[in-house]
Amino acid sequence: MNVPGLRSNARAICALGAVTVGAAAVTALQSFVPGEALTALRSFIPGETQIFQLLLFGWIGVALGRFTVGASPSPVPRGGQTAAGRETAAKEEKVDRVLRHIAKVLQTHLTDNESFSERLDGANERLSHEQSAGPVKDIVLALIDDNRDMRDKLFNVKNQLEQSRLQVMQLQTNLERAEEAGLRDVVTAIGNRRFFDACFAEEVEKARRLGDGFCLALADIDRFKHVNDRFGHLVGDRLLRLFANILAQNVRGQDKVARFGGEEFALIFPGARLVDAVSAVERIRGILETKQWTVEPSGERVGKVTASFGVARLSADESGADLLRRVDQLLHEAKVQGRNRVVADGENDGAPSSRRPSRDRRAAAG
Ligand code: GH3
Ligand code: MG
Ligand code: MG
Repeated sequence: MNVPGLRSNARAICALGAVTVGAAAVTALQSFVPGEALTALRSFIPGETQIFQLLLFGWIGVALGRFTVGASPSPVPRGGQTAAGRETAAKEEKVDRVLRHIAKVLQTHLTDNESFSERLDGANERLSHEQSAGPVKDIVLALIDDNRDMRDKLFNVKNQLEQSRLQVMQLQTNLERAEEAGLRDVVTAIGNRRFFDACFAEEVEKARRLGDGFCLALADIDRFKHVNDRFGHLVGDRLLRLFANILAQNVRGQDKVARFGGEEFALIFPGARLVDAVSAVERIRGILETKQWTVEPSGERVGKVTASFGVARLSADESGADLLRRVDQLLHEAKVQGRNRVVADGENDGAPSSRRPSRDRRAAAG
């Protein structure tokens, strides 16, 4: 499931933020272009300090490079439950880890710098007792100044990095919300077609990889056009919302409910046998059938509203598109047979054959 514009923009911003911080780090370190002091320092500073700086630049470069590669556009998320969503969350976590790591490296460098300052102070102290150490003492004093300057710059870079990290986290949170909103149907507040497509693709893929089967049901409210025509679209919308609630409240936690389009809804039952999916759908059909609807606040009577259902289980080697076509056909049969019924395909049950609906009895209710 993808929110292409949002996702790629956010990634670009994340990458830009990290590159800016990295560039600031490098600039701060490089802007400490020493005059005489550093030229002299090159021979004084312990070799590992220069190597450490080189390693630091190199590391920041590598980290940002990896981050930018990781941020290339990819199927996105959301719902949090989809594989794509989990992949995105993992990438976001990785970005956060990289930024934290850079901050830690800078902190380590600050600490190293601190102890180097102390060593310079010590050298200065010792030189003050030497009569003949005039020029060297000047060099060391200049080094102490430059080193302090560098430490302050590094400290600022570290603060900027921390700010940037917080901004990235805020961005991620906003993005998650936006993407969640992009997967929710505005009329019924359940998952929309994009949500369904992502969940469905994930189940099909899981079935291929792990051999886990799943069931799919399509539900279509009967004669819904009459409701709209007679009571208006607002009442129709309210009915869609209530129907969506009934669906959502009568499935297991791992099942997925989505508005498929118009007055059609889809239910995915991961790992379920056909017999169990049929009984869940049959229960929903029964609940709907027993309700009497009225228009509020007028109290005008809408009466009974029913729905028809098609249910099937993914067959071995069946594609998602084929399963969808099959379930749609079963739903169509339910309409043809008179509506307000569940029609299931008993060929691929995964349940004891005695509970499998026969072809003659596929209309489980009427
Ligand atoms: P059937 O029993 O054959 O399914 O008949 P039906 O009237 O339910 O089906 P039909 O396809 O003839 O009409 C579907 C209606 O659903 C027409 C359309 O205006 C309405 N509809 C689709 N989306 C919405 C929506 O978001 N809100 C409202 N109020 N109505 C919608
Ligand atoms: Mg329809
Ligand atoms: Mg309908």
